[in-house]
Amino acid sequence: MTHLVLAGHGSHLNADSSEPFHRLAAALRARGEFDAVTVALWKEEPSLARALDAVTDPDVVVVPVFISTGYFTRTVLPREMRLDGPLTVRGGQRIRYTAPVGTHPRLADVIVERAREAGAGPADALVVLGHGTRRDSSSEKNVYAMADLVARRRIFAECGVAFIDQEPGMLTMLDRFRAPRLFVVPLFIAEGWHVGETIPADLALDGPETRRGGRIVHYTPPVGTHPALADVVCELARESLAAHPPTPHLPPSTLNLEPPAFLGELRIEADRLCGPGEPREALPPDPETIRRRVRLDDAGRYRPLSGARGLPSGWWVPLRDGLTPGAAIEAVYPLATVHLQQQREGTLRIVPLDEVLDRQSGRYEETRLLSQRGRRILRELLCGRCVRTPAWDDSSSGSAALPAAAIPCPEACSVFVALAREAVAWEREGAEPSPPDPSVPFAAFEEPGNEIREAVIAALMAPAPPGVPR
Ligand code: SF4
Repeated sequence: MTHLVLAGHGSHLNADSSEPFHRLAAALRARGEFDAVTVALWKEEPSLARALDAVTDPDVVVVPVFISTGYFTRTVLPREMRLDGPLTVRGGQRIRYTAPVGTHPRLADVIVERAREAGAGPADALVVLGHGTRRDSSSEKNVYAMADLVARRRIFAECGVAFIDQEPGMLTMLDRFRAPRLFVVPLFIAEGWHVGETIPADLALDGPETRRGGRIVHYTPPVGTHPALADVVCELARESLAAHPPTPHLPPSTLNLEPPAFLGELRIEADRLCGPGEPREALPPDPETIRRRVRLDDAGRYRPLSGARGLPSGWWVPLRDGLTPGAAIEAVYPLATVHLQQQREGTLRIVPLDEVLDRQSGRYEETRLLSQRGRRILRELLCGRCVRTPAWDDSSSGSAALPAAAIPCPEACSVFVALAREAVAWEREGAEPSPPDPSVPFAAFEEPGNEIREAVIAALMAPAPPGVPR
């Protein structure tokens, strides 16, 4: 049994950022080459740190869906997923960790395909557009390597690179290439801020096709959203399985997904699962549809924290056509049933808050400086809005103190860590409270008016009660 895990970034602020990622997982599931295909995300759930909790198959392949080898693939993913390198052997599992999709030579096929679909031919120039950075040369090398692979095929009259954040910059493309038509293919995973906003704005593009002084610039969607990316993932996984062959013995799965009647804001009936409120809208029995339905609340705001109270109301889904209660719950609260089951069996791996904050790096490194009082305030004001119950509390309650039907939270989530980062600055520099504004996104903690920000600042700035350490 081989389980493929797609590891990616996700977002606390943009509901659409991980959609291509979920579509890629669905496409790979439909191919049936792997026994299971799941996702793990840095900024969303299931988190990188806990996604493997649900994986009981003996053979696992983790494929980073990133464009280049860099900070995330070298530092964050291995640390969060507790991977030792290309092969990690743990608890009877062999977990393979591949290179990122953006570095595989098959990605050159996707670049060519993007250009051809936009109409590129032998007289045209193909420009591979990368982000680039002055901090990490491997990002630049990968863009050059991909352009080189395409150039060697001699399909187009010219082929070269351009960057957003380094030389040669994208603004000089029309001077550097001579062909009358330029086909610009963004070497990005998602249709995010750069691909959708900054690149078109900086290049003053009119859309997919822009005419400039008798020449034409064609701007294609990014490589990461092309259906052929699934071929690249499969190739990486196959190579990794060939290098580290599968385990011959299969341990039985002990996961018991029988749900209680109520879980968080869900009601589980004999033949259907209902969201909060009067069930009016029937959804098809499909986990992807459920997942998309609960991404936004009733006011249309993105819910980056799956356990946040405020599920959209009025929907229900029939438990038929292969949709089990466990699969339906998983689509709403990733890993909840796994963690409940593990808690009942006494096998739930709990990571104290100190350990989570201490292992952060880069811009999150200073979260470890959050005071004990600040930690308690965040637990009360953020976790208090979540249907999960922290089992990681390092000072008072342990997992044994949790009510039997509570969904345990074994490790502080990425939203908690992001809030901790802001709270450290508020503690250090002080902060002026602003009136709460429900229209500010849930996790935009740096934005005045964010409801959690304002509640945390008010609590942090209030004098500590006598006898309570700061
Ligand atoms: S850390 Fe708090 S907010 Fe985050 S999932 Fe756990 S209980 Fe919920």
